[in-house]
Amino acid sequence: MDYESYFARKLEELKAEGRYRVFADLERIAERYPYALLRRNGIEKEVIVWCANDYLGMGRHPLTIQAMREAAQKMGVGAGGTRNISGTNHYHVLLEQELADLHGKEAALLFSSGYVANEASISSLAQNLPGCVIFSDEKNHASIIQGVRNSRVEKYIFRHNDLKHLEDLLSQVEPQRPKLIIFESVYSMDGDTSPIKEICDLAEKYQALTYIDEVHAVGMYGHQGGGIAQMQGQEDRLNVIEGTLGKAFGVVGGYITGSRNLIDFVRSHASGFIFTTSIPPAVAAAALASVRHLKSSQEERLNHQKRVSEVKARLKLMGIPYLPTNTHIIPLMIRDAHLCKQMTDALLDEHNIYVQPINYPTVERGTERIRLTPSPLHTPEMVDHLMNALQDVWRRFAAKVAA
Ligand SMILES: *Cc1c(COP(=O)(O)O)cnc(C)c1O
Repeated sequence: MDYESYFARKLEELKAEGRYRVFADLERIAERYPYALLRRNGIEKEVIVWCANDYLGMGRHPLTIQAMREAAQKMGVGAGGTRNISGTNHYHVLLEQELADLHGKEAALLFSSGYVANEASISSLAQNLPGCVIFSDEKNHASIIQGVRNSRVEKYIFRHNDLKHLEDLLSQVEPQRPKLIIFESVYSMDGDTSPIKEICDLAEKYQALTYIDEVHAVGMYGHQGGGIAQMQGQEDRLNVIEGTLGKAFGVVGGYITGSRNLIDFVRSHASGFIFTTSIPPAVAAAALASVRHLKSSQEERLNHQKRVSEVKARLKLMGIPYLPTNTHIIPLMIRDAHLCKQMTDALLDEHNIYVQPINYPTVERGTERIRLTPSPLHTPEMVDHLMNALQDVWRRFAAKVAA
């Protein structure tokens, strides 16, 4: 086989479909975030980032920077091993205690990322519960899908947020078999939320374990940033709450929280936890500072929600349609890969606004979109600037945007 020409041909196909991915070469400017320096075709220019998952700007908060710098100075830059073999540093211990407390759980377990947390926890849990059956929402994240696949247990995919379908499926499985229901609190691309209480009610009725991905909610919802389950008083009813340290907490890493035994069980069985070098102590220290800060400070959450409402209100006023949601994610539906790319290119080239086009396989074909994520650090002037830019781009391309 001519491998090289095969790779090249496949890449050409992606380009023809309009979904070949071009990464923006950015240098985030910590002191003036959401500004970043963009390098493209030999040109350097400042742009404003409107699509980051560092939702609250904690990635450049003086407290997190200081914590990382001090820990690196004190302990060096690498963890030095897997958690089992010399790689458990004091900051890992402190961070796990803090995360357990954040969600009102007995214990927590850290992973390299949220992706790894899902893949490793789901596959090891399901695999090691004899006869386990998984029930997974059809809109679940790729990392969950991978965990379900790798477990190789019997699985049922229920229609998105469809309680009736979930119950139909639950009721068809023998009552004595272990069951695991997996869903998210905030779905990251549509910005919608799940009926947590009702899913927990079904789990109770059919004696299933519940596993919730709160990746797009931790730090941002609930009185101490514990997520949507915390906001709705449902935390106690969830067996596993999974989160990331890479989005609102602004650093990197993933985790699960739950009962002492469940966490110890995953710690003892999950390949993706056991056989990999633990996150650097300085990363754990920065994440710890971020979680602690957001536990008590309401300012970032309040300003975040305020900014989100402003952007939504302005879009409405201008007649630019967005998927209506009660979360911080604002999807502008373009429904065409080429058009989406043209519009985001125009925003970048002519208006210095960086929003990455979202296309397949992140979302289904024909649902390509521009996903806006306002932060508390976007000023009213930046919102004005965004609106003028969107108005211009909409005027030029809107006729082509399918209703
Ligand atoms: C981003 C994401 C993850 C993965 O988290 P990382 O820390 O970025 O690896 C997991 N679940 C959902 C729903 C996500 O959007």
